Amino acid sequence: MNDTAAILDATDPLAAFRQEFHLPSGPDGQPGTYLCGNSLGLLPKTARAAVEREFASWEARGVEGHFLGPSPWLHYHETLTDATARLVGARPLEVVVMNTLTVNLHLLLVTFYRPTATRYKVLMEGGAFPSDQYALESQARLHGLNPDDVIVELMPRPGEHTLRTEDIEAKIVELGDSLATIIIGGVNYYTGQAFDMAAITRAGHAVGAMVGFDLAHAAGNIELHLHDWDVDFACWCTYKYLNSGPGGTSGVFIHERFAEQPDLVRLAGWWGHDAAARFQMKKGFQPMPGAAGWQLSCGQIFPMAIHAASLAIVERAGGIAALRRKSEQLTARLESHIRALNLPASKLEIITPADPAQRGCQLSLLVHERGRELFDFLVAQGIIGDWREPNVIRLAPVPLYNSFADVDRVGAALRQFFGE
Ligand SMILES: *Cc1c(COP(=O)(O)O)cnc(C)c1O
Repeated sequence: MNDTAAILDATDPLAAFRQEFHLPSGPDGQPGTYLCGNSLGLLPKTARAAVEREFASWEARGVEGHFLGPSPWLHYHETLTDATARLVGARPLEVVVMNTLTVNLHLLLVTFYRPTATRYKVLMEGGAFPSDQYALESQARLHGLNPDDVIVELMPRPGEHTLRTEDIEAKIVELGDSLATIIIGGVNYYTGQAFDMAAITRAGHAVGAMVGFDLAHAAGNIELHLHDWDVDFACWCTYKYLNSGPGGTSGVFIHERFAEQPDLVRLAGWWGHDAAARFQMKKGFQPMPGAAGWQLSCGQIFPMAIHAASLAIVERAGGIAALRRKSEQLTARLESHIRALNLPASKLEIITPADPAQRGCQLSLLVHERGRELFDFLVAQGIIGDWREPNVIRLAPVPLYNSFADVDRVGAALRQFFGE
């Protein structure tokens, strides 16, 4: 930390992007220090105009907006495809934007969790995001199975907070041909651990399992190469690191090898039907090739308009690789502020891995003493992170709108709280 935040901010190639977002105010009415983009990303200033444009199209054209106007709604989702593919390291055919995350997780599991009498287990990370746990429990029941017989949870070794890749691989080998599907959060929401998705996919495929990832905390946060990693399926929300608004739309990845398999079991709807024949309104579902063939309903234009505006910012910033470069610096700086407090592990631990390759923006602080007090103190200083029961504070400096000065403000507040 030899350079001052002022120098780092002045030479930061992404510094100007902070102006493209609305920063919420702190208690003094000044812009706060927002480190909660892992929960809800900030509003891009371009989003309002993007939505207004679709209001104007609806106002002026009514139903004709499906076919006319700046971005006819019939094809609107296609305008998101290329940027989405670049974001997650996919071919355009492999991605589609639709629905919301948990809905998509269910749709994907209908296809990629097909238990048999002998191969019916699902491997997840222990303490997965609750929606994912509930989705899996209900999927087991959907197949007439008991979730306790189906779901195997990966737990850290005693005294550790995160999972070791070798332990995940060993568990996959142990489950062997009883393992139907692996579904893991690419970045765990609680610890911030980023998993080695390539290694997990390899290990899963070696025992004949399907491998998918929930990328809610990974998309827009870390670099992804879903196609090259050979991942079978993935989904993510767009309102966390992708700044597309509360309840925003979701992205789906389905590997190219499934693109031309119309007989794969899936839940179907008219928007997934062969586009050329969709309006013949005939019986007999014929899916479009690729991920598009999993669509159900006509496109949700308003959430997609916000998402388009937000993806355009990522693209202008140079894509995820550029974001990641700054992100590693921001998070490392936050980490060094915390380590410099020299607190014993009995008081405060960073449970996020120290290895940058095993984490994204977020650091999760396990605060053994006065945790809630610390959180409230930060809020009173205009520092917005989030609190996860029973005693974890998550702080996520986001490269698009957080500055090095933001991170230093957190450092100063922590020093003040711990009485240096
Ligand atoms: C944020 C998050 C969700 C939320 O799902 P929604 O359907 O968008 O409400 C689900 N899973 C994970 C892993 C998450 O981080």
